[in-house]
Amino acid sequence: MAPHAETTSSELALEGMVHNIEKTASSLTNGHTSNGVVANGFKSPTLVELDASLLEITYTTNPRPVPAPNCAEVKAQKTCTDHMVTCVWTSSYGWHAPQLRPYGPLTLMPTASCLHYATECFEGMKLYRGYDGALRLFRPNLNANRMLLSATRIALPAFNPSQLLSLIVKLCATDGPKWLPPSRPGSFLYIRPTLIASDSALGVQKPSEATLFIILSCFPTLDQKPAGMRLLASREDMVRAWPGGFGYAKVGANYGPTLICQADARQRGFDQILWLFGEGAEVTEAGASNFFVVWRSKEGRVEVVTAPLEGRIILDGVTRRSVLQIVRERLAAGSGGLLGGTGLEGVRVVERTYGICEIVEASREGRLLEAFVCGTAFFVCGVSEIEWKGESIRMPVGSDGCGDYSRLIKGWLKGIMYGKERHEWGYIVEEEGIPA
Ligand SMILES: *Cc1c(COP(=O)(O)O)cnc(C)c1O
Repeated sequence: MAPHAETTSSELALEGMVHNIEKTASSLTNGHTSNGVVANGFKSPTLVELDASLLEITYTTNPRPVPAPNCAEVKAQKTCTDHMVTCVWTSSYGWHAPQLRPYGPLTLMPTASCLHYATECFEGMKLYRGYDGALRLFRPNLNANRMLLSATRIALPAFNPSQLLSLIVKLCATDGPKWLPPSRPGSFLYIRPTLIASDSALGVQKPSEATLFIILSCFPTLDQKPAGMRLLASREDMVRAWPGGFGYAKVGANYGPTLICQADARQRGFDQILWLFGEGAEVTEAGASNFFVVWRSKEGRVEVVTAPLEGRIILDGVTRRSVLQIVRERLAAGSGGLLGGTGLEGVRVVERTYGICEIVEASREGRLLEAFVCGTAFFVCGVSEIEWKGESIRMPVGSDGCGDYSRLIKGWLKGIMYGKERHEWGYIVEEEGIPA
C-alpha cells in the first residue's frame, strides 16, 4: 500500500497553508508520549495527531452483494460498501485510534453540535477501476488538503492531510477489489470523507469532540446527458455565497439552503442552478460544480473563461484546477491556426470576474462557442442552455452533450483517471481486499 506520490510544482497556495498547520501540529506534540501524557505525570495540553498507523480493523461478518452499475439501487444513492473508517477527536486527547469497521449507523446525542450548528464538512472523490486493471484515485492530496481548509473554517480540529489520505487509501484497498471488480473497467465508487462535531454540548461554541468518517458509496454516472445540461440562473434574492463568507469551503452549510432553488429548477426541467452574484450578476459556479464558458473574444481569440478564486466565493475544485492546467498545457494558443492532432484552434485561459451579460452579448454576436460544468460528481458535462430572466441562451452540443473543447478535455481527464494515459495525477491504490 505504498501509492505513488504525485505533487507538482504548480500546486497551490493551499499547500503552503497546510504545511504551516502541519508544522504547528507536529511541534505541539514534540517531546510527549503518544497519549499526550508527559513523563512527570501531568496531563499535557498537547494533543495526539491523527495517525493512520494506529488503525484498528474489524471486518464485516455480513458482506453484502454488489449492485450492478447504474441500477435503480445505485441511482437511489443509499448503498455503501461493506466497511467504513471512523475516528474520534476530543479536545482533551486529540485524535484517538482510527477504526476500519463494518458500515453502519453512527450514534449521536440529540444535542450533538453538527445537528444544530452545521459544524460539518466533507469531501467528494472517486475511486476508479482502470482499463489497465488498476484502482486509482485522482489527485487525492488536493482533497485531503481542502478538507483541512474546510474543517478549520468551522472550528473543527486540524489534522495531517497525509494521514487522512492514508485512511482513505486503506478503505479503498479493502473494499475496492470486491466493489469495483476488474471485470468492470470504467466504473467508480464515490468516496465521501466527512468530519462532524459530535460534541453533545448544546452551547454555541467551538466543539470539544469531533468524528471523522469515510464511506464509499455506489454512485450513478451523471456526466452522460446527450442533450447537454440545462442551467437556470439564480434569482437576485437567492445568493449561494458572498465575500467574507465560506463559499470556498466544502461545508454542509453551503448546500442545505440551496436545495429549495435546486428543487424548483428541477421541477421546471433544468438540471442545476447557475449561481450569480452581486450587482453585476457575476457568474460564479453551477450547483456543486465549477462553470466554464468558451467564447471568441471581440478581438477574435478563443478564450476558456472561468470565475477566479480571489474573493473566495467559489470552491477551488480539483476538476477546475485540472481543466485549467490541462488546457494551458495542451490547448494554449500558439502561432495561430489549428492545434496539431485536435483540429481545434488554440485558446487563451482566462480566470476573471465576468457577468452573465457578457455571455448574453457573446451569444447575440455569435461568439459563444460552448459552456460546461465540472466537478467530481458530474465530471465534465456540456451545457446546452442557460435561462436568465426568462431569456434562453443556447449553445450547440454534439450527440454526447458536449462541445468540441469540453469533449477533448473530458477525454484527456478520463484517460488519466482510468489508466489509459500514465500521468502523475493518477494515484494507484494497491489492492488488499479482506483476508480469507
Ligand atoms: C465539490 C464542489 C465543486 C467541485 O469540486 P471538485 O474538487 O472538482 O469535485 C465545485 N463547486 C462546489 C460548490 C462544490 O461543492
